[in-house]
Amino acid sequence: MSRITETQWIWRDGQFIPWADATVHVLAHSVQFGSSAFEGIRAYSTPKGPAIFRLREHLERLYHSCRIYRMDIPFSMDQLVEASRDLVVRNGLESCYIRPMVVRGYGTAGMVPIGAPIEVYIPCWPWGAYLGDEALEAGVDACVSTWHRVEPNTIPAMAKIAGNYLSGQLIKMEALANGYAEGIALSPSGMVSEGSGQNVFIVSKGTIITTPLDGSILGGITRATIMQLAGDLGIPVRELHIPREMLYMADEVFFTGTAAELTPVRSVDKITVGAGKVGPITRQLQQQYLGIAKGTIEDRHGWLTYCK
Ligand code: PMP
Repeated sequence: MSRITETQWIWRDGQFIPWADATVHVLAHSVQFGSSAFEGIRAYSTPKGPAIFRLREHLERLYHSCRIYRMDIPFSMDQLVEASRDLVVRNGLESCYIRPMVVRGYGTAGMVPIGAPIEVYIPCWPWGAYLGDEALEAGVDACVSTWHRVEPNTIPAMAKIAGNYLSGQLIKMEALANGYAEGIALSPSGMVSEGSGQNVFIVSKGTIITTPLDGSILGGITRATIMQLAGDLGIPVRELHIPREMLYMADEVFFTGTAAELTPVRSVDKITVGAGKVGPITRQLQQQYLGIAKGTIEDRHGWLTYCK
């Protein structure tokens, strides 16, 4: 498992503070009750210096997560955009992972969060391929998890908030314990939901299919990106509830996520996906995605925020 590589500075509530000073109390509300909203964003090295991929869309999701939990972020989107850009430059990074966090801090005794102070942190650190370098090339072996995702209207799946990740931890640990790289969870109704930290796509007869925003998945920014790129390439895209067996019938299967980028899946439950090698549509989309993110393909949708 990858360890965090420390960098020099973390942005906290309008100021840059040394990495080691970015601490919270053990009785902070977020530590006790999982109430910290967060984001995961990548900055890529481009010919014009580091650029953050879809920064505003990620921050928009952060505001939405906070709105659901009645947390007011005391900074504007523009302030957080500037903070993120400055952070990457100050830390001297060409590429990195950025993890904005809105934390309910220390002060209230019980579970009720009203009155707990809101603190905003933005750390970043260098982070390579989430599922390993070969994963992007050769694909990963995944399983269907015995753990389901949350039922709609229980814990909101569309909020990216710490407590939600107890579900992902169970899915991922079970997958690793059984020798797989990732787990794919089903929704409460038994249809394909998402991975522990990725959305799932299948390719069937030239059409790309992914789970709709049905209350069991996070609305991935990479998911939206891939749907857009597929449209640009003239590849039909559909949002459909996917029965588990379609994972075994699909020509191609892949994961999308900021950390996982576009990772091909080469087998599910030890059943080979398609021809057993990375499929042409997966490869085409992966090249487009990484090409735009790394500034080697024109940024026709205005997805890059340059840091310098
Ligand atoms: N689902 C879950 C549960 C996730 O944690 C993530 C990663 N943020 C995703 C999907 C993919 O989202 P994105 O493409 O915005 O990173």
